[in-house]
Parts: sequence; structure tokens; C-alpha cells
Amino acid sequence: MTEFSDLALDDRIQRAVRAEGYTTPTPVQERTIPALLEGRDVLGVAQTGTGKTAAFALPILHHLAAERPEHGRPIRALILTPTRELAAQIGDRLEVYGRNLTLHSFVIFGGVGQMPQVRAIDRGVDVLVATPGRLLDLEEQGYVDLSHVKHLVLDEADRMLDMGFIHDVRKILRLLPRERQNLLFSATMPEGIRDLVAKMLTDPVRVDVSPEEPTTDRIEQHVMFVKKADKVRLLADIIHAEMVDCGIVFTRTKHGANRLVQQLSRDGIVAEAIHGNKSQTARVRALEGFRDGDVPILVATDIASRGIDVEGITHVFNYELPNEPEIYVHRIGRTARAGRTGVAYSFCDETESGYLVGIQDLLGEDVPVIEDHAYHHPDARRRRGVGHPRRRRRLLVAAGRCAARDEVGSLRLVAAQRDRRVVGRA
Ligand code: AMP
Repeated sequence: MTEFSDLALDDRIQRAVRAEGYTTPTPVQERTIPALLEGRDVLGVAQTGTGKTAAFALPILHHLAAERPEHGRPIRALILTPTRELAAQIGDRLEVYGRNLTLHSFVIFGGVGQMPQVRAIDRGVDVLVATPGRLLDLEEQGYVDLSHVKHLVLDEADRMLDMGFIHDVRKILRLLPRERQNLLFSATMPEGIRDLVAKMLTDPVRVDVSPEEPTTDRIEQHVMFVKKADKVRLLADIIHAEMVDCGIVFTRTKHGANRLVQQLSRDGIVAEAIHGNKSQTARVRALEGFRDGDVPILVATDIASRGIDVEGITHVFNYELPNEPEIYVHRIGRTARAGRTGVAYSFCDETESGYLVGIQDLLGEDVPVIEDHAYHHPDARRRRGVGHPRRRRRLLVAAGRCAARDEVGSLRLVAAQRDRRVVGRA
């Protein structure tokens, strides 16, 4: 088995990694780090919780520490992320992994004043972590020079697509030098991402850790059928009974998240909401409270939750089932991080059984049902589970369609690469 010490990383980075207590690289790190060290482009199909941040941060820091810029301290690495939370977390990780280096990293995002960011960039930044909107804003005002970027990371590209940032990303790509190393991480590979991959990456090494090593393995999953009106009481009962002190509850809407926080507080449960309508200060405060243990329950919408990297989350509650099965996997992946175990409860009411079917199709198995609770509502289970002949047929058709799409996607990728000049080798 590969150890960190087997990877050709700068000793100062090795020391920082050891100080974090990492000894063995995760599968995504084991495959991404050598490829990036060699200067290759990488396409990573991996979700949060797989160790993907260190997978790109360590080799980029290694390259930057080895390459001295000709003048001053231009931005040499750019990391684009869809959310402020994810940007801030990557910024924290860069500080940790780069603590023995003299490199400067900085994080910029919207929703806060731009002047402190402008001043920091002025002082010199080697690695810039940014959300696309704010970066373009500052660039258009002439505060950011991207002409020295040699390493580009696009993290959670599928989420960028969902949030409508792809247009901004394409604009940013046009501002970068052609000679650069590129890395794109995405948990899923929808059509829009395949196009971007073809445009952005040159002969990439594909690191795919999703299908064979799903992080859901260590998560105990349950579904409970319940009326919508009983969900709050069911949630409060579980939180009390299992003395949950680090749990995350997902709702579909911002309004629903706020309301749930108030309802839980009537039950004596301290909770905070985190979603896109909250000010940056409120979001940071909620996350800090959650991380420190002062706030045991975080109620989140999907967009806000995506980058939350808090170790020790024991419980994930799908208070409302997500309408996209992939989101279910992202949500429950908030628990069982870095080798731990966790439990995920999904509340399914009579309007949500179709979503459950989609989730079980994606997982390839049924989520075990708990009926032994005060609010069990059998009517919520309208559609029957795996093994139903009609459903199996539908599954096979769906699988066939995916395979066909895969082939088209990779064919297009090959063609696009053939037509491009070889760029992107750092
Ligand atoms: P990420 O997927 O980058 O969000 O990382 C998930 C969590 O795993 C973070 O809390 C990291 O600190 C932790 N982590 C990353 N790499 C390792 C490793 N090789 N060994 C142990 N923990 C790790």
C-alpha cells in the first residue's frame, strides 16, 4: 500500500501532512498526486469526503514551492469553487498543508466588501481560491491579473453547472494563459461538464473513485415513512433519543430551513440554518458554532451544504427527500468522513415515494425501512421496492441509455483533444 512518504512531495509538505495525522493517501490522492506531480491534467470523478482537496492542494503547493516566479508574487494557481463555504474550506486546507512554505494563499468570494480582497491581492498571492462571480468582478475592474496562472483547479464542476456558473467559468478560462496544468473535479458527469472537460483538459488522467469505492459504504441508511405534518416531531424524537450532538438536517427550501429551526427550538433543540439567503457573516457564524459544538444541529439546503467539511457529523437527516438521486449521495456523504461511520435517516412522505425509487435505483439497493416509530405512515410507501418486474425493466433501459451517453461523451472528448494543440503541461 502506498504511504504518503512514497509520494515525491516536498519534505516540508510531507511534514505538514504528517502533522495532520495522515499516513496513507486516500484512493483519489494515491492516483491524482503522482499524475499532477508529473504535470499531467486530471479529470477527477469524486465527491467531497474522498480527500480530493489534498489530492490537488499538495501537488500544486509542491510545484509552486519549486518554481520561483520571475518577478514579484503573481497568481500562479487558481482554484475555482461554486460556494463561499467550499472556497473558505479549501483556503483553510491550503494554510494547513502549506504551513512550512512561504507561499501566500487567499480566498475571495462575493457577498462581502471587496476592498480587503483587493488589498490582499495587491500584496501578492500565489494561490487564489475564488468563486467565479467575484473573481470576474475584480478582474473586470482591473484588480486581478490572471496572466501568470499555471495551475487551474475547477472543483465541484457539476455544482457550478447547477448553479449557473458555467458561463462565468468559460469567461475565466479565456483570461488564462494557454500553457497551464488543469484539474477538474466533479461528482457526476452530466453533458455540460463533458463539454467543459473537452475544452479545458488536455489528455487528462481520469481518476474515478465514485463507483468502486463509494463513501456510502460506512453509512447506515434508513428510511421512515411519515406524514409531512409529523416530520418535525419524528425528527425531534430521534435527536432526543439518540442524543445527537453533531447532526445535519436537509430541507429543500430556504424557507423550510428557517421554519424548522424555529420549530426545533420550541422542542428545546438548538439549531441554526445555513442557506443562500443568509448573509456571509451569519453563515460563517452558524458553521463555526456547529464546528465548535455549540450548535448541535445544522439545518441546510443543498447548495449551502455542498462544501461543508465538518468532521464528526454522526447523523444526516433527509427531512425532505431530494428530487435528484445524486444529491442524496452528496447529502449523506456529510457523515462518515475520513474513515468514520455515520447514520442517515430519510423521511419520506406520500409525495416523495417517487424520489425514493430514484435514489434506490442509483444505489442499486433498497434503503432499509424503519416502521417501528410513533409516526409510521404506511400510505407514504406508494410504490413498491426493487424486484418489481416493471421496475427492473425500466432500470435496464436506464442503464442502457447511460452507457450510450458515456460512449458519445468520450468519443467527443477524443475528437476535441485531437484538434487541440498540446497545452497544459506545467
Ligand atoms: P475532502 O474530500 O477533501 O473534503 O476531505 C475529507 C476529509 O478527509 C477532510 O476532513 C480531510 O482533512 C480528511 N483527509 C484527507 N486526506 C486524508 C488522509 N489521507 N488521511 C486521513 N484523513 C484525510
